[in-house]
Amino acid sequence: MINYFNFEKRDGKYLLTNDFGKYAFVNEDTFHALVQDKVSDDNPAKQELLDKGFLIKGSMEGFIQKNIPWLQGMKGYCLCGTALHIFAVTNKCNLDCIYCQAHSKSSVLEHSMTKEIGRRAIEFAMQTPNKSITFEFQGGEPLLNFPVIREMIDYSKQINTDKEIVYTIVTNLLGLTEEMLAYLVENDVHICTSLDGPACVHNHNRPRRGGGESYAGVMDKIHGLQKRGIKVNAIETTTNFSLKYPKEIIDQYLEAGMNGIFLRPLTPLGMADADWQKVGYTPAEFMAFYQQAFDYIVKLNLSGTYFPELHASYFLKKILGSYADNYMELRSPCGAGVGQMSYYHDGNVYTCDEGRMLSEMGDQSFLLGNVMDNSFNDAVTSPVCAAVCKASIVEALPKCAQCVYQPYCGVCPVVNYASTNSLYESNSRDFRCTVYKGIMQILFDILENGDPKKIEVLKSWID
Ligand code: SF4
Ligand code: SF4
Repeated sequence: MINYFNFEKRDGKYLLTNDFGKYAFVNEDTFHALVQDKVSDDNPAKQELLDKGFLIKGSMEGFIQKNIPWLQGMKGYCLCGTALHIFAVTNKCNLDCIYCQAHSKSSVLEHSMTKEIGRRAIEFAMQTPNKSITFEFQGGEPLLNFPVIREMIDYSKQINTDKEIVYTIVTNLLGLTEEMLAYLVENDVHICTSLDGPACVHNHNRPRRGGGESYAGVMDKIHGLQKRGIKVNAIETTTNFSLKYPKEIIDQYLEAGMNGIFLRPLTPLGMADADWQKVGYTPAEFMAFYQQAFDYIVKLNLSGTYFPELHASYFLKKILGSYADNYMELRSPCGAGVGQMSYYHDGNVYTCDEGRMLSEMGDQSFLLGNVMDNSFNDAVTSPVCAAVCKASIVEALPKCAQCVYQPYCGVCPVVNYASTNSLYESNSRDFRCTVYKGIMQILFDILENGDPKKIEVLKSWID
C-alpha cells in the first residue's frame, strides 16, 4: 500500500517527500509504478521506499509504531508549550537602521517598560507549561533600559521553582558598560548582536541616530568580548545594498570570529515596509545573492573551515535528520502564541515579535492580552492565537498542501496580513515562499547530484 506523499519532477527524476520528513529520488518508471502501487520486489528502490515510509507493508499498526519517532521528531514542538518569551523592554534606540522593523515613521521612541510591568511579564511568561524556556531581551536597544532587565532576571530567579531558563539579550552593544557586562556574565546571559557585513555595508545599513557610523564601535565591542572569552553571536540582515557583497559579508563574519552566519532577507514590516523601494529587492535578487554566498560558504567548508549557513541548517535538520528545531518561522503551525510571545513596554502581549512590530504601525490585530489584566491561559486560548495557528498549518493550505517542500516549510500570517490584509497568503509570487523554495532547491540539488564531499558538508551543519 502507498502512504501519502508529495512529489516534484526534476530533470527526469522525481523527488518524493512525506510527513515523516523523509525524501527519496526515484526514476520515472519507479514513480509510475509507485503511484499505481505496483513497485515490484526486484525494483532496487523498493527497500528505500519501505524504509522511509513511502510504502506500507504489514499491518497499519506496525507501520504507525515504526514511524512514530519520526513524526515526534518533526512535530514534537506542538506538545511543548510556549518556549520563547521576547521582552521588548524599550522602543528607544541609539541607531537608526534603514530597515528597522520595530519602528514606523510615526513611532514615538520614548517608551520603556517599568519594573512593575517587567515583573508582571515574568509572572505571565512563567505560566507556560513548558519547562525549558528562553527569555530574550530586545528593544529598541535593550541596554537603554538595563535596570529593568536586571529586575526581570533577578525576579525570575527568585520565583522560579521548576523551569530551566536560558537568558539572551539582542543588543547593538554600543552602550555596553563594564558594570552591565559583569552582570550579564555572572547571570550567564547569552549575548547576540547585529553585524551586517564589512564597514561599508554595516555603516550604510545601521547608522547612528543623529548621524555617524556604528561599525567600528560594534567590532571593537565584539573583539573586546572575545578577548575575554565571552561568546557573542550575530544576526545579519540583507538590504539591497548588501546584495553586492556576498563574499565580503562572509569574510567579515570570519574576521569577527563568528562560527556561522544566518543569511536573513528583510521582513517587510516597519521602516523596511515603508521604504521597500529604497531598501528592498525581489525574491529572485535575494536568491542570486544567497546562491553566491552559499557557494562561497560551501567552498570554505570544503577547504577545512567549518562555517554553516544557519538558514540552510534549519532545513537540513528536517531533511537529513527528520528533526525540527523549534525555529518559529519553519514550524507548522508557526510559533505565534503557541511557540513564542512578545511583551511590549506597556505590558501588551503579542503572538510574536512581528505581531508586536505591526502594533508600531498602528495595528493591534495580533494582540493576545496584557500582563496586567490577563493570564497566559487567556492569551493561548484567545481567538487571535487560534486564527494565526490555523492560518499557518501548511498541510492544510491550498497552495502548500501538495508542495514537495511542505514537510520542511512554514508560512507567516503576520507578514501575509501586513502585505495583503489577510492571514492567508494570496499572492502567487509570495516573497517568503520563493526564498524558502529557492534554498531547498539548492539543498536538494546537492543531495540529488550526490557529490559525497558536499553532502558531508551539509551533514556537518546539522550536528
Ligand atoms: S510556502 Fe511555498 S515552498 Fe513552502 S510549502 Fe508553501 S508552496 Fe511550498
Ligand atoms: S506569525 Fe510569522 S513572525 Fe509570527 S511566529 Fe508565525 S511565522 Fe513567525
